[in-house]
Amino acid sequence: MSSKMLGKLETVFSYMAHFMLLSWPEKRPGILFLTDSAGKVVTIMEMQVGQSWNPNRLDFQTGRQLCTDTHSSVFQALRTGEIAVHTSQDGDVVFGAFPLKEHDGRIRAVIGMAAPQKEIAFDLASYIRGLDSLIRMGYDAYIQHATTEIIMKLNRHDNTKDLLNSLIHQIADIIQKGYCSAIKLSEQGMLILPEYHTTEKAEDPERPYEITRLAARFAGEPLTPSVEDDYRTVILPITCEGKPLYVLFLHLSAEDAHRYDERDVAFLQEVGEKASYALLRTIVADDLRRDASKKDLLYQLMTKIQASIDVNDVLQEIINSIRFLYPHASVDLFLTVETNATIPVKPLSFHDDDASTSTRAYLEGNLVMDYEERDGATVAVLAAPLLGKQGIYGVLQLITDRTVFLSPHETEYISILAETAGKAFENAQLYQQSRNLIRELRLINEMARQLNRSLNLQEILDFVIDMLLETFSTEYCAILQKQPGQETFRVISSSLPECQGRMIRAEDSPVAEILSSKQALLLVPPGSEPISFSLFPCVSQMSFSSLMGVPLVVEGELGGVLIVGDSRHHFFSFDDYKLLEIFGQHASLAMTNAMLHNEVERMVITDNLTGLYTRRYLNERVQASLEKDSFGSLILIDIDYFKKVNDTYGHQVGDEVLIQVANSIKRHIRETDIPARWGGEELAVYLPRVDKATAHGIAERIRSYVEKETSPSVTISCGLAKWNRELTGDISVESLFYHADIALYEAKNKGRNQVILA
Ligand code: GH3
Ligand code: MG
Ligand code: MG
Repeated sequence: MSSKMLGKLETVFSYMAHFMLLSWPEKRPGILFLTDSAGKVVTIMEMQVGQSWNPNRLDFQTGRQLCTDTHSSVFQALRTGEIAVHTSQDGDVVFGAFPLKEHDGRIRAVIGMAAPQKEIAFDLASYIRGLDSLIRMGYDAYIQHATTEIIMKLNRHDNTKDLLNSLIHQIADIIQKGYCSAIKLSEQGMLILPEYHTTEKAEDPERPYEITRLAARFAGEPLTPSVEDDYRTVILPITCEGKPLYVLFLHLSAEDAHRYDERDVAFLQEVGEKASYALLRTIVADDLRRDASKKDLLYQLMTKIQASIDVNDVLQEIINSIRFLYPHASVDLFLTVETNATIPVKPLSFHDDDASTSTRAYLEGNLVMDYEERDGATVAVLAAPLLGKQGIYGVLQLITDRTVFLSPHETEYISILAETAGKAFENAQLYQQSRNLIRELRLINEMARQLNRSLNLQEILDFVIDMLLETFSTEYCAILQKQPGQETFRVISSSLPECQGRMIRAEDSPVAEILSSKQALLLVPPGSEPISFSLFPCVSQMSFSSLMGVPLVVEGELGGVLIVGDSRHHFFSFDDYKLLEIFGQHASLAMTNAMLHNEVERMVITDNLTGLYTRRYLNERVQASLEKDSFGSLILIDIDYFKKVNDTYGHQVGDEVLIQVANSIKRHIRETDIPARWGGEELAVYLPRVDKATAHGIAERIRSYVEKETSPSVTISCGLAKWNRELTGDISVESLFYHADIALYEAKNKGRNQVILA
């Protein structure tokens, strides 16, 4: 017979011996032994337990060589491969030998027997021939026990890695040839390469494991049970309820001359089948643990996002967790938004012909999985968009070996991570936006408050300039006012004082652009010509690469332009422009108010008929001068015989004459002098810091001109009063007027058309 062997010789033999001892006749002594393929004794046992038979001439020690004697049955059995029997020379002891043959005919071992001749009442040779079925039974029992033992041991493990290591080592232990390895299978029954377990040992670190070579050979195709390479490789996929789990390989190193046989294959099949539930159990347990840890990670991420508005933290967390879950993948983060990220991120670039997986994921807004050629190798690329509610901020990319297939479960998880990153971006941006908004509201509030505090146009202009410089940290700003009825603008306020008062035509740049677009944010890209400022000769030394301008609208009409400029590139954002617009609205309102106020004030201080100042204003100015100056003069004027003019020509002409007198007075005094209508046809001129003699000259001059410049001609009488703090001490407005009035009265009395000094 050819007994194809599995398992450790001694162990298998112990199972066979059990059946042989059962069949041995009762109370007959004897010895059962096992030799290896060289005839060396491996195991010895007594046929009758307790009935010690020890032939003195036989030395059955383990390790003893039984083949020296060419006539011995062990020698014969080893040589011929047949059952052999012989009797000792003295005829006392009978020997029998049963060769155990391998699949290829080689003899692996010999089962031997020795018994006293006189006690054996039967033919040992025929007894031994009958052992065949017992040996087979022993062998089967061994396989049964061994398999059961394997499964029992497997059940002690609660994770796939330990279970598989236990399984392959036990299988290799029993098969006793080459190595046993296990590789994870995808749902399609294909190899997932990075996850292998093997009994191979790294004897030479330079030399790759045999299993990696085999795996590469069988990658990319669904695996089925098969025997390859003329029984040098055995492949057995383990499936459970139709689901591929792992594949077992039996394989030999190149130098190993062994071959596997049907018994090895049958054993592997038996073990593979029985181990499948244990394996599925640990896989499920692993998945559950993994899910739990994924949920943990996800929970931590969410907490981080809620607790922190720092995008960096969130991105780092995502990259960490992906690296933790997918240690074999290379993870990259592509961003389309600018961040001051401290973690390594890559900008996502687009070309028309770019059909990379990541670009597609970005454009389609979906997770995309595909193969790509990278450095001459095909790799699997998984790209998940960083999806927020308002947009896509980039792509999370995993590159793995092409044999790796991620389950829908896994890809969904990666999608969630990527979306989490997207939301983190969004949150951070919204946070930044709301901060900006609050900053803007504060600025606008502050500006409105400041602007409303003043009705003085110059104060307002100065304030607007300061505010623009501060808010935008810009190099230059100016307020241009449109000249009424003209297509020109005047610089009424500027951060550069030398620009003050300059005139600019509406068709010149950049005013033309600002007016034509009604919205001007001009940003010159680096390397291009700066914005032309030919109209600003005074700032020609400055070149502006960034410029913003908004029109100032006053009561629905274009009133002017606000301009902000800077030499730095891309210095202003669209948000800045929006802010400038709001500035412009507030500034034009404040400027309009100030101008209206100026007008009202002007009306209050001006006499309607003559255009001279009012009596109240004159009083204020005289009072102010009395407080701050050291001397001054007051001329009181009264038209002579004015009643007659009215009587003769009518009140209308009287009014005209009054206006002529007023104009005449205005013409012949200086800017600093204050002409006023004192009441009726009485007028006054206050001359601050003018002494009596000068004032007298002025009064005389006015008197003579009035006579010439009026038609019908009238004359005037003047009373002149002066004050000087050093000579007269402090004096009141009333007393100054009183003195002037006395002098005027005197002039009337002395015949009119003259100037009298008080
Ligand atoms: P004199 O001053 O030389 O003594 O004679 P007079 O005729 O000018 O006398 P008085 O100054 O007292 O008269 C003032 C007159 O001036 C009274 C009024 O009819 C006239 N008058 C006053 N205010 C106006 C005015 O706003 N328009 C016109 N048309 N007449 C005025
Ligand atoms: Mg009068
Ligand atoms: Mg008069």
